Amino acid sequence: MRHLFKDLSGHIKKDPYGFTYDEMAKVIQENEAKALYASLYKHFPKKKYLTMHIKDIYKKTDTEKYVYELIDGNCIETVYIKRRDGGTACVSTQVGCSVGCVFCNSGRNGFVRNLTPSEMVQQVRLMRRKVNRIVFMGMGEPLFNYDNLIKAIHILRDRNGMNFPTNGITLSTVGPVKQLKKLREEHLKIQLTISLHATTQAIRNRIIPNMNKNDINDVVKEGLSYAKRHNRKVVFAYLLLPGINDRPSDIRQLATWFKNENIMLNLLEYNPTSNLQIKTPAKQKMIAFKKQLELAGLDVVMRVSHGRDIKAACGQLACKYNENK
Ligand code: SF4
Repeated sequence: MRHLFKDLSGHIKKDPYGFTYDEMAKVIQENEAKALYASLYKHFPKKKYLTMHIKDIYKKTDTEKYVYELIDGNCIETVYIKRRDGGTACVSTQVGCSVGCVFCNSGRNGFVRNLTPSEMVQQVRLMRRKVNRIVFMGMGEPLFNYDNLIKAIHILRDRNGMNFPTNGITLSTVGPVKQLKKLREEHLKIQLTISLHATTQAIRNRIIPNMNKNDINDVVKEGLSYAKRHNRKVVFAYLLLPGINDRPSDIRQLATWFKNENIMLNLLEYNPTSNLQIKTPAKQKMIAFKKQLELAGLDVVMRVSHGRDIKAACGQLACKYNENK
């Protein structure tokens, strides 16, 4: 037993970002745990505690993209979007992605591996920026890395460390049903965004191929159930693709599902990726689609994309350094 504690204590010092304060305080002396937590979260961390480093930074007026190199040589990308009073960190949860959405470059080379809780937390710490929103919306499907994601959220919220407010954390997912059910039972109260992008199973299978075992009606049902259980608005994201999901029947089905429900529909425009067959809709078309949804009684917003010019917008994250691996 003593041996096990010694090993664990060595691990804490090698990769301390993967531990909650309570876990640390059980294994090392409490005053040591306090000092270590303070050096991790109250000051900029010492190099010896980091398992990754910044390889590149791309900057534009309102957006910065960080390329991080991990301990095994894989790279991930994290985006910082400046706001008037701070900024949003868009955090990755996997190297690559297995879902294969046709509008997204992150899964172009398939799935490589899950990120550890420590690697998710370090993405936020290494930016040295004032972060007041965290969105798990970068590379990877967060709910396919469920346990590590939940642990990272607990670490970010830890009162002894960053003390990050739960309602400032958003999880964006394509909505695997089994994991949505599990998430509903967590006492986390984070914001949930579900990427829906279709109203029929056939079209959804075309857009999000590896979710074809998840019935679209069940995905909607679980989203609505989360909204009720946690009494908070769930966002359903809908990427408008001309000629694919912008038909009158799509408007009717969205109204049938969502009228009088506690949801918001986010209309997104496609950010160009390597898939040249998909077109960005004309602004007028998006406005007309939004109007019709509003007439049908839905709460709709049109989202502006940030960071297209540095390939930092939704769907564009795909670290070039991983390509030849
Ligand atoms: S949009 Fe998300 S789930 Fe889909 S391929 Fe990209 S990273 Fe994966």
